[in-house]
Amino acid sequence: MVGGLQPAQLNMSCIAGIGHIAIGFASARLHGDETPRVRAWLTAGACAGLAMLPDIDVLIPALYHPHGPLLDHRGLTHTPLFALCIGALVFGVGLRHLRSRRRSAQLGILAALLVASHCMLDAMAQDGRGMLFLWPLSMHRYHFPFRPLPDIPTGLQIFSQLGLRQLLIETALFLPLIADSLSWQALWRPGQINARANARPLRPRPEPSS
Ligand SMILES: [Zn+2]
Repeated sequence: MVGGLQPAQLNMSCIAGIGHIAIGFASARLHGDETPRVRAWLTAGACAGLAMLPDIDVLIPALYHPHGPLLDHRGLTHTPLFALCIGALVFGVGLRHLRSRRRSAQLGILAALLVASHCMLDAMAQDGRGMLFLWPLSMHRYHFPFRPLPDIPTGLQIFSQLGLRQLLIETALFLPLIADSLSWQALWRPGQINARANARPLRPRPEPSS
C-alpha cells in the first residue's frame, strides 16, 4: 500500500488536470496583451498541453500491459530528465523553424518548466506515488511535505461522488489562477483581420469622365 491507495489503484488515480491547465494558461500570458486572439488560444492550448504531457503515461495500459516502475503512472514521464528532454526537443524544433537561437531557447526553457511544473504539482498530491525526482541516479520517490491537492479517479470514475468532490476541491484551490488566466485580454479581443480592414482608409473613387 502506498500513500493510502491499494497497488491496483495506483494507475487509476491522478490530479484532475485543472491545476496543470491553469498553469499552462497562466504561462501563455507571457506573450503579452497584444497577441492576436487566435494565436492567444493556440498558445494557451499548447502551454496547457505541455503542462499535461506527463500524464500521457495513463494511456500506456491501453497499448500494452505496463511492467516496471518507469512505465507505470508517475514513472518516466514524471521525471526532471523527461522535462529537460522535452525542452531540448522544443529548442531543436524552434531552431529549425524560427531560425532564432534566443527565441528558441526561450521556448525550450518554457516547455521544460511547464512539464516540470506537472511533476511539482503531482508531488503535492495527497495520494498516489511520489515523483522520481532523482532518476536515473535514484529510484526513491518524493512527495512534498505540503500536500493539499486531492487525487481523483480517472475515466468514468471521475463522475462518482468521490471523483466530483475531489474535482470541486481542486477547482476551488486553483480558482484565483483560473480567474487570472481567463482575464488575459488577448483571449477575448475582437478579430484582428476585421479591425485592420476597418482601420484601412478607403481610396476615393475616380470621377467618371464626361
Ligand atoms: Zn501526473
